[in-house]
Amino acid sequence: MHILRSIDELRSLRSQTTAASQTIGFVPTMGALHLGHSELLKASVAKADITVASIFINPMQFNSDADLAKYPRTVEEDLEICSQLNVNYVYLPQTSDIYPEAFDTSVTPGSLGSLFEGASRPGHFAGMATVVVKLFNIVQPNIAFFGKKDYQQLAIIRRFVADLNFPIDICGMETIREADGLALSSRNAQLTSDERQEAPRFHEILGAFAKGFAETNSLNNAYAHALEELRSMKHFQVDYFDVAERETLKPSRDTSKPLVVLGAILGSQVRLIDNQEVQNSEI
Ligand code: AMP
Repeated sequence: MHILRSIDELRSLRSQTTAASQTIGFVPTMGALHLGHSELLKASVAKADITVASIFINPMQFNSDADLAKYPRTVEEDLEICSQLNVNYVYLPQTSDIYPEAFDTSVTPGSLGSLFEGASRPGHFAGMATVVVKLFNIVQPNIAFFGKKDYQQLAIIRRFVADLNFPIDICGMETIREADGLALSSRNAQLTSDERQEAPRFHEILGAFAKGFAETNSLNNAYAHALEELRSMKHFQVDYFDVAERETLKPSRDTSKPLVVLGAILGSQVRLIDNQEVQNSEI
């Protein structure tokens, strides 16, 4: 496995792989890798000739310096995981390479970026989209892998890839969970023990929503019940919880369309996000 630190090195890698007719699979991450990231890396290693992972904690997508400062940093362990999974290259950019002093451009998503996470975290998705566009231009992958755990992020990336004509296939991977159902996240380590104990309820409630929907055939009843259950959690406050169309994330109750339930809850230090696609067969 090779570590790449400069944009020039990525440029020559792309030239070599193009000359050899090899495809590049790309997995962008912020590090503190867990089994959710591993599934993305494994999928890339299986599908592409060459896999490039990046580890970059993107300051532009954080809402506060304090949040950025406390984001976990475990580069040595991350490199070990990548090496064990047969990743070919890990790109470790410097912040000054990604955001040189004169940097003055941002990629701002449209309506998709202002809903849900976008409403709770102003500027977050512009920061995310800007860095993903930059990384796409630096790595020039054929295929890139993202988790459905960050459902809105994935929807925004699919949108700008189509809108801006990036020749990249976007592969969305299922959410990987702890045995008790909690979605894996680099931020879970910041939960207090009480919060950690109660956190799996979040996924349970979203799952029960899909089941209640199937049993009563009433989206409104299932929604009201799930919201009540979420509000009864002791250690978390509901930030948002709604049913939306999968592609546009427009809130909807139209069960003839593919829908997804999206939620975020606030603990003392951490926000948890999760989602559940509503299967039409469950109606
Ligand atoms: P991050 O390092 O948090 O920016 O995440 C890097 C990628 O891993 C993103 O595409 C995430 O959606 C994905 N990811 C994070 N957690 C999970 C999970 N529990 N299951 C699947 N993918 C995940």
